[in-house]
Amino acid sequence: MKIIDAHCHIFPPEIITNRERIASREAWFSELYRDSRQRLASAEELVASMDGAQVQRSVVFGFAFNDPGLCHLCNAYVLEATHRYPGKMLPFLVVQPKYAPSALHELTDCFGKGALGLGELLPDGQGYALDDWNTLDPIMEYLRSANKPVMLHVNEQLGHTYPGKGKNGVVAGYTLGTHYSDNKLILSHWGGGLLFYELMPEVRRTLHNVYYDTAASAFLYDDRIFADALSWMPDKILWASDYPLLSQKRFIKRIEALALPLEQRERLFWRNTVDILGLDEVLGEGNQV
Ligand SMILES: [Zn+2]
Repeated sequence: MKIIDAHCHIFPPEIITNRERIASREAWFSELYRDSRQRLASAEELVASMDGAQVQRSVVFGFAFNDPGLCHLCNAYVLEATHRYPGKMLPFLVVQPKYAPSALHELTDCFGKGALGLGELLPDGQGYALDDWNTLDPIMEYLRSANKPVMLHVNEQLGHTYPGKGKNGVVAGYTLGTHYSDNKLILSHWGGGLLFYELMPEVRRTLHNVYYDTAASAFLYDDRIFADALSWMPDKILWASDYPLLSQKRFIKRIEALALPLEQRERLFWRNTVDILGLDEVLGEGNQV
């Protein structure tokens, strides 16, 4: 079975070494990573994990900082790792949308160097609402014309608390998906539960360009969510670990234990990600995923 992980974080050595100093001026990064037991993984560690779990490719990005300079550092590292490990990385970039000129410059530069999408953006950490059109319009217009997807962090608005649990959930995700119905959107963490509302026909129609990733699912939902969601929405769910938060190998074992039908497993593990990223065009024939 081919496997693509649609959501992995890696960090350049400058950030790993200086995590405490950076945490002192980046509140959301501090929330997630001030506890030194929370791993910051390098590209090498991700590749070792992929090899151990037989994951062929991973969508990789750094962390959506407030500081555009730190975003740039992450992007340069992700693109460098993409060249260092040919065929393994599907690079995304991160920007701070509040500084539109530098964000647009970074998008142009990184897409020119092979980036495939934007994200994971962190609206709670970066300080904008998902209906803040003034902030988001320039970026979303750019992405629409470039036909590139954007991945955003949203999460469930009830249940247990945890570091990084923000205030953007189903309503914010739906508002975003409605306003930007021509943009390709990936809402992380099952869209904070938004996918369940796709059982409403009018919501399903409106959110026709919205995909959902499964990042961190084992910490959030009963594994029955996979069989349930795939039974009625097989084409919009991307398997994603949120590495290094979840072990790719252990997560794959949990999915395999569900004994999902082959067609659904293929969709979940790689076909949906290939579709949204348009990988056939990028990789060309004969360079199969
Ligand atoms: Zn993430």
